[in-house]
Amino acid sequence: MTDSYTKAVNSGFTKTLAKKLGLPRPAILRRFRAGDPLTVGPVLVVSDDASTGDADRIAQVLLGWGLDVRRQPSDDARWGAVLLVLTETRRPTDVSAAVLATGSVLRRLATNGRVVTVSRAAADGDAPALAAARNGVDGFLRSLAKELRAGATGNGIVLTGGAAVDSTSVLATLRFFLSARSAYVDGQLLPVGPADAAAPADWDRPLAGKVAVVTGAARGIGAAIAKTLARDGATVVCVDVPAAGEGLARTANAVGGTALQLDVTSDDAGRRILEHARTRHGGLDVVVHNAGILRDKLLANMKPAQWDAVIAVNLEAQLRINDQLLGRDGGEGVDGLRLVSLASTSGIAGNKGQTNYGYSKAGVIGHTRATAPLVAARGGTANAVAPGFIETEMTASIPFATREVARRLNSLQQGGRPVDVAEAIVFLASPASAGVNGQVLRVCGQNLVGR
Ligand code: NAD
Repeated sequence: MTDSYTKAVNSGFTKTLAKKLGLPRPAILRRFRAGDPLTVGPVLVVSDDASTGDADRIAQVLLGWGLDVRRQPSDDARWGAVLLVLTETRRPTDVSAAVLATGSVLRRLATNGRVVTVSRAAADGDAPALAAARNGVDGFLRSLAKELRAGATGNGIVLTGGAAVDSTSVLATLRFFLSARSAYVDGQLLPVGPADAAAPADWDRPLAGKVAVVTGAARGIGAAIAKTLARDGATVVCVDVPAAGEGLARTANAVGGTALQLDVTSDDAGRRILEHARTRHGGLDVVVHNAGILRDKLLANMKPAQWDAVIAVNLEAQLRINDQLLGRDGGEGVDGLRLVSLASTSGIAGNKGQTNYGYSKAGVIGHTRATAPLVAARGGTANAVAPGFIETEMTASIPFATREVARRLNSLQQGGRPVDVAEAIVFLASPASAGVNGQVLRVCGQNLVGR
């Protein structure tokens, strides 16, 4: 679970040696700690001419967050972030000055710096030049993220459906991308729609007063999710199978929450979750479908039990639980739910030996998109997080050579930590993220696998 190479190339003699030999030197990523500044230095806000008004509006908000905001590139700063606002761009030729201004400061972007684009999604009926200008941002951002060094990341906010640039949902996404909470999110463009909510009283405790359930919370990523939800104010119900009771009790005690021993594949799992949350904590606001299993085999050697178990835990359980929580089983269901499911980059790019797992995780992406409008009708959202290589007991058991290749094959040249996945989940589960619905957020360091 430790990446000793990254530690070695960041300390003492081995750091100098790695530099001399030209070896890859993955940076130590900055992670969120309460009280730390939002960015590691001043923020440069640039825009094309037509988007100046939106850039001004965002700059005002950043000033209100206490950031050092500048509107002109200069040589005297070690930049913490560059924000490139392209919301009103009409033609590809409009963006040149703004992207080149961004380029002019990249050599002075601080370690763990950030580049964030804000643009609008191409939509049906757009003139070809407008659609080209809007879609161009996608290829620009993904390419730029691959050029950034020293733990810096590039991510984009894509406004859809006329979302306002200073809506709470856009600002929540901007805060996430600028902050250390998104340490292992890189090269992602996240659509944000017009649905909105009030800003939280405290951006560092966005889940204050909320009740959250995490399945598979006894260990690994699930335990990190429970701890991060609790850190940010939620009362947490930890769910896992009876066989994992010891780990489950440990997590529940650590977060001051309650433990619910439950196999998520049981017929009434959703009803039991709801009943536990209501009777013990007075309601239910967030459900994180994290429980998942692997039964890797080439399809030619796959036994029925191996296929069926993975589909049952990773996919069918989520479908059944959601139906019960949304009252699609004839029950009452719950309003305002935030559902977040664990997908995987294996469900996006595929992985040898994982036809069952790949099916289940791609299925999660499918049901998340289909659930989004159903839950929105009841005031909630459904999103998925797709982790890449995360340092857990599961990935520690991969043979050394395969593991080394897998963990380096991304723009940040290292594996993520469970807390990186958890931070993305807290962001999606927070009331302020109301405009993010039906999306898949990759937490993969811009893993080079794709399709
Ligand atoms: P893990 O094996 O360490 O933990 C999974 C937990 O789920 C365990 O505590 C287990 O007891 C529980 N669980 C299994 N079946 C259950 C059931 N039927 N009912 C209730 N609980 C059950 O796995 P992890 O690495 O922490 O992964 C967590 C999630 O993240 C999974 O959905 C996994 O597919 C996904 N994921 C992990 C990685 C990674 O690199 N580790 C990458 C992509 C996606």
